[in-house]
Amino acid sequence: MFEAVISAPEKGHLADYIPALANQSKNLFAVYIIDEKGEVLTFGDFKGVLTLQSISKVMSFIVAADSLGIDQVLEKVDVEPTGDPFNSIVRLEVAEKGKPFNPMINAGAITVASLLPGDTVEARVKSVTDFISQVTGREHSVNQEVFKSEMETAYRNRAIANYLKANDYLRGTVEEALETYLQLCSIELTTEDLARLGLFIATDGLLLTVTENKNLITRKTARYTKALMMTCGLYNASGKYAATIGIPMKSGVSGGVLCTVQNGQIEHLQGRMGIGVFSPMIDEIGNSVKGMDFLQRISEHYNLSVF
Ligand code: GLU
Repeated sequence: MFEAVISAPEKGHLADYIPALANQSKNLFAVYIIDEKGEVLTFGDFKGVLTLQSISKVMSFIVAADSLGIDQVLEKVDVEPTGDPFNSIVRLEVAEKGKPFNPMINAGAITVASLLPGDTVEARVKSVTDFISQVTGREHSVNQEVFKSEMETAYRNRAIANYLKANDYLRGTVEEALETYLQLCSIELTTEDLARLGLFIATDGLLLTVTENKNLITRKTARYTKALMMTCGLYNASGKYAATIGIPMKSGVSGGVLCTVQNGQIEHLQGRMGIGVFSPMIDEIGNSVKGMDFLQRISEHYNLSVF
């Protein structure tokens, strides 16, 4: 299966709208799969570093929802798919009261970024890096080159943040929300870390490293997160991939994909699993070409769809 994906013709493009991501090596492909007993299956350079990009939307939603409570977050952002590109502005004008549709598109994620605990950009970003570190067991930081590059080209995101502020959805200033959101997108991690985060969500917030069975987040947060990943996690191809793959997933333009498997068997791995995939060539929509090809093959072969 890995070989078939690797040898498929090179398609797609790098996320060159962010200059720092345009320099990545095109043919990277890494996979890390981990089950709830800690058994793993790997391929390629799974310790190679990537930035979270849109996958950070999942982490910030979890942190905001768990610290504020879901209901307070839902006052500022809905949980409806849009079918629009991730950085679309149009619905902020036409939706009732300009409310962002969901936390997995930029409008919703910029709103959620402003709701994170803490009074400064640093504190809000730290609330998310601390959460990720708790799950992966490693320190995480922001790639300053990627962040700077994003800030310099954030014309649409700044427009979105201004619309949100005009309609009273942001806590703090436009620049604070924008900076927080773009720093979150620039957090570095590995394919292995993505899989550990995927497993954490699949288990409704259990940590492999902790033996007592204590969920770190509420079940309600985990349930909303998985529903959002399934319905809105793959940009405006989420419906198609719900049908063809059927696993809650979230992708980012750096070419990473985080997946949570609720129940399944992949070779010697069993039960709930997390899958991290990284391959930087993305399609027109923003999803990793080889990543999605691999996930479709593995889902069909091992019957992983929840449907
Ligand atoms: N940094 C990105 C942006 O908002 C996130 C893109 C993504 O992965 O969807 O432009």
